[in-house]
Amino acid sequence: MDYSKLINTLNEKQRTAVTSSADHILVLAGAGSGKTRVLVHRIAWLLSVEHVSPYSILSVTFTNKAAAEMRHRVSALMGSMQDGMWTGTFHGLAHRLLRMHYLEANLPKDFQIIDNDDQLRLLKKIIKSLNLDEKRWAPRQAMWYINHKKDQGHRPQHTKNHSNFIENTWRDIYQSYQEATDRAGLVDFSELLLRAYELWLNHTNILDHYQQRWSHILVDEFQDTNTVQYAWIRALAEKRAKVMIVGDDDQSIYGWRGAQVGNIQSFLKDFEGAETVRLEQNYRSTPHILTAANTLIANNEGRMGKNLWTAQKEGEPISLYHAFNELDEARFVAHQIKKWHEKGGQLKDCAILYRSNAQSRVLEEAFLQGNIPHRIYGGHRFFERQEIKDALAYLRLISNRHDDASFERVINTPARGIGERTLSVLRQAARDREKTLWETIQILLHEKILAGRAASGLRRFIELIDSLAYETSEMPLHLQTDRVIKDSGLWLMYQEEKGERAQGRIENLEELVNATQQYDYRQYEDDTLSPLQAFLSDAVLEAGEGQADASQDSVQMMTLHSAKGLEFFKIFIVGMEEGMFPSKMALNESGRLEEERRLAYVGLTRAMKELTLSYAERRRLYGEEVRNIPSRFIDELPKDCIQQVRLGSIISQPFHSRFTDKSKYKIHSHQNESNENEGHFSLDQRVRHPKFGEGTVKDLEGSGQHARVQVAFSGNQLKWLVVAYARLEII
Ligand code: ATP
Ligand code: MG
Repeated sequence: MDYSKLINTLNEKQRTAVTSSADHILVLAGAGSGKTRVLVHRIAWLLSVEHVSPYSILSVTFTNKAAAEMRHRVSALMGSMQDGMWTGTFHGLAHRLLRMHYLEANLPKDFQIIDNDDQLRLLKKIIKSLNLDEKRWAPRQAMWYINHKKDQGHRPQHTKNHSNFIENTWRDIYQSYQEATDRAGLVDFSELLLRAYELWLNHTNILDHYQQRWSHILVDEFQDTNTVQYAWIRALAEKRAKVMIVGDDDQSIYGWRGAQVGNIQSFLKDFEGAETVRLEQNYRSTPHILTAANTLIANNEGRMGKNLWTAQKEGEPISLYHAFNELDEARFVAHQIKKWHEKGGQLKDCAILYRSNAQSRVLEEAFLQGNIPHRIYGGHRFFERQEIKDALAYLRLISNRHDDASFERVINTPARGIGERTLSVLRQAARDREKTLWETIQILLHEKILAGRAASGLRRFIELIDSLAYETSEMPLHLQTDRVIKDSGLWLMYQEEKGERAQGRIENLEELVNATQQYDYRQYEDDTLSPLQAFLSDAVLEAGEGQADASQDSVQMMTLHSAKGLEFFKIFIVGMEEGMFPSKMALNESGRLEEERRLAYVGLTRAMKELTLSYAERRRLYGEEVRNIPSRFIDELPKDCIQQVRLGSIISQPFHSRFTDKSKYKIHSHQNESNENEGHFSLDQRVRHPKFGEGTVKDLEGSGQHARVQVAFSGNQLKWLVVAYARLEII
């Protein structure tokens, strides 16, 4: 092994962290300073220099994508795959543990993971069956309550004997939910973590095994760990493991989901003698971008404090676009990306970040219109699409008849004439008898409580699922999937639904069959999972992490939250308006406002070279049109880092704060305001170049020193020229 490769590409501070002999290490540093790089190199160092077995290393990251990247980077450094090393997300690791120890965890062998949608649907049913008013006891709020409790490690019984009626009711909902999920063998995301943790608490032999096994634990994005996750690390490291955590308090963006940035301080207390290493050089972004990010985050209080500098050369100022409305904004982004692509830029180097998933639709439409390939992470991700979830629900029901959430999803999809009345009888009976819906049908049919059309509908459904399960049990997964989609009637249902959207759904179902194919040939480290189970679990856990066609060059679209840890050459952050970002919910609460600001910091620091911010004066969202003012985060950026841009024109004025710029509410045309143009160029103007001859201006961008024009010269030669140097003459 050539150690120089490990060390030479690191700066001194990074090297200190990678080669440290301290038991525990905290790397605390700002964005783009190489924290993840340090973690990867540390693993390679442990393997190659300290001769630690890969079997003894556990590394935890925040997304499956990041975990795959980490495995890949370690293999690249080491020159081979590292078998036996555990690398994954907390959720993925918990899932693996529970599969291996399902008996001790008190779970059925074929337990299923449910996502937030399923969880919400189930809660709706439970709230109804408890005869509670859904308006007062909103399912979504119940979901928050339950997940929050679980994230803190609390079970319903831990909150017993409360004198408060409201708290008691939430607890009752939690209790019923817990019973229902346990009965059906369903595990939600928070449950995964808590279950795995309780597994250790209740079975010290299992904990002991892992404590012995892992001599080194490494955690990326530590600032976003919640109480249970931190308890995990502590429990695992109690005997002998050396722990390295890397993080940035300024990038803590999951407080709303129970993350505790205070875990960083707890780490220093709980892991005695931990060495702290601070990295200060940023390698990712240009000075404009970095200065903007540093200035913005300085508005937060109580930071741990960091200095970041960069050796990169100046680069472009940040562009700011003032849009009329969300359509104009989307058109602008599409236009910019087209331009970038025409100049030879790769689409995959561009990312568009937004505060909420709902913002992606308009952008998507603009891209469809402009024929720009794009991929959405999150939102309506492949595995969350209606038709895909329908098909998955059939597969899940085949794998586990007691999966009530899947049962509910497909009992009447396609329509089988089973009415809401019949279903509510069924649900109530299931609740009274503490049985799953599937079991209850059998009982009700047997006892002849249900008769006539309702009974025959249910009977047919049961026969369908049983026979599908029986007939496809020996098939390879992709044939099984294909058969289930066809025989269940889903295919026909979507085929009969006319139009482009239905066509898309059919294509997605085809893609699902495709996606299952690889599972037929995949080898598993532990063959505790059948291909079907493995596929279903991955589908839930990996939803939204780019599982769709990854080979095509396409623009990346995602929420600011899911951009964490990533970097792109060119970034657009759209919807920079008060009420959008910062989000409306955060406006009146300083704690939440600071979290929004950290999210903005995360967003800005994803950009390597080019960053564009945009805001819309009017926006239609959720069917309502609102007028917004620009985000305070724009005002918080240093003015000389910013240039205002227009579609098809250049503005000579630098950006003015909305507190000084009287024209801020003026609605102005975004098309070519020639009086504000610099260098007097405008679209379609005739110009002459000493070398290329006469031509017509087709496009303009940038300002001041950076101003460029695109000119079509004779012979259809299109050229981008820097105004400052091109010696163009207006004719
Ligand atoms: P974030 O806080 O956003 O997760 P990070 O601190 O984890 O950022 P990395 O992603 O590890 O930062 O590094 C940012 C970029 O800088 C990467 O492209 C990385 O390869 C590069 N980089 C880091 N350290 C060095 C170095 N010493 N020499 C050259 N490039 C480096
Ligand atoms: Mg990182």
